[in-house]
Amino acid sequence: MIVGGGFGGLAAARALRRARVRATLIDRTNHHLFQPLLYQVATSMLTPGQIGSPLREIFRKQKNLTVIMGEVVGVDKDAQCVFVNSVDRARAPIHYDYLVLATGGQHSYFGHDEFEAFAPGLKDLAGAVAIRNKILTAFEQAEAEEDPTRHRDLLTFVLVGAGPTGVEMAGAIAGLVRTTLRSQFRRIDPLSTRIVLVDMGTRVLASFSEKLSAAAQKRLEKLGVEVGLGKGVDQIDAEGVIVAGERIASHTVVWTAGVKPSPAGKWLGVATDRAGRVRVQPDLSVPGHAEVFVIGDTASLDQDGKPLPGVAQVAMQQGRYVGRSIRRRVKGKREQVSRPFRYFDKGSMAVVGVGYAVLESHRLRLHGFPAWLAWAGVHLEFLAQSSLRVGVFLQWVWTYWTGDRGSQLIVAHHSTESP
Ligand SMILES: Cc1cc2nc3c(=O)[nH]c(=O)nc-3n(C[C@H](O)[C@H](O)[C@H](O)COP(=O)(O)OP(=O)(O)OC[C@H]3O[C@@H](n4cnc5c(N)ncnc54)[C@H](O)[C@@H]3O)c2cc1C
Repeated sequence: MIVGGGFGGLAAARALRRARVRATLIDRTNHHLFQPLLYQVATSMLTPGQIGSPLREIFRKQKNLTVIMGEVVGVDKDAQCVFVNSVDRARAPIHYDYLVLATGGQHSYFGHDEFEAFAPGLKDLAGAVAIRNKILTAFEQAEAEEDPTRHRDLLTFVLVGAGPTGVEMAGAIAGLVRTTLRSQFRRIDPLSTRIVLVDMGTRVLASFSEKLSAAAQKRLEKLGVEVGLGKGVDQIDAEGVIVAGERIASHTVVWTAGVKPSPAGKWLGVATDRAGRVRVQPDLSVPGHAEVFVIGDTASLDQDGKPLPGVAQVAMQQGRYVGRSIRRRVKGKREQVSRPFRYFDKGSMAVVGVGYAVLESHRLRLHGFPAWLAWAGVHLEFLAQSSLRVGVFLQWVWTYWTGDRGSQLIVAHHSTESP
């Protein structure tokens, strides 16, 4: 039983392809989502269908795997069953022999959940489309607004959090304005858009080297992004944000700052780290239950004295490791299972506007177009289906040359009630 069809769950399921098992993959959505490109859906570059792949489609040839759409709400590890809410059933128990929990994480507003109503985060497709609607609607409202003093608030976009997602979003909004929107409006000048990126820390992309952080910041500033570092967000409301005591009036604030794990630790009733991630053994199992594994963003494991980062590569490598471990155990080769998991860090990358990225891999540090080419190649390679690779590549090239976007639609429900 694999819970979660994200990077970790998908890798585990694929590793069981040739195993003599009956596998079940449960996810609350019907698709695998390539989260690293969510910001491109939020900024109109790509359509949701270009970064989401139906799980049934991905596994149509894997005959030993059944996909169930449902939300896991609990685990009884002694009775070896998970409890699942589906369309017409609540807490239906499903038995497992081996359990892999790969349920990822969600936003953390660091104790300020009231911010969520005004500053949505980027985590799923519905959220990305909602942010796209918000950004495009702000431009539409400004074009229709007679009072020019209100244009400034409508055309100010604030991103909270200068990690990879915040930096990528800021660069992408600048690209949207410069390459696409600038020629489409008549009453407003999209180039007057204000993009503000704020963070408590003193560097953008703090997980990268100082040199690459500085290069990324310089690039953002060249694109017209205002970078406010070392400043905490005091408040977020319908009028905008208050940063270090100063109000920035804005209709569009996006939260890109924090992540918290799924409640897997609570379901299992096991020890977690301070963030709530399940403390797993070196073989990724849960203490006292060798048949229960937790992987990816919802697991906590130290390597060489440092916690493993919450990135796709960790989840994928852990998924493959666990899939292979189960395969071996089913074959009766239990002694090989105890070889501890070891993460091989291939490096990190982040995009800063069209055609520019930073890349850090061991001693290699690159920024600019060559890094962007590497970023593009790696991201295309890891999309779940080959048809998506072709579509996304063609879309990037098309947008680069023409400025036309994958989807500049505001998708909203309109009430059919008569007034
Ligand atoms: C906007 C954004 C950008 C990112 N960019 C990068 C990047 O550039 N590079 C990088 O390496 N990492 C990036 N990451 C992080 C990366 O996506 C995660 O580390 C990775 O997805 C973790 O994989 P996972 O399998 O643990 O969880 P996920 O991939 O999040 O998958 C979890 C799955 O579990 C399902 N699920 C959750 N709860 C339940 C439940 N109760 N019942 C059933 N199903 C459930 C979800 O629907 C989802 O399909 C980014 C993350 C975000 C949000």
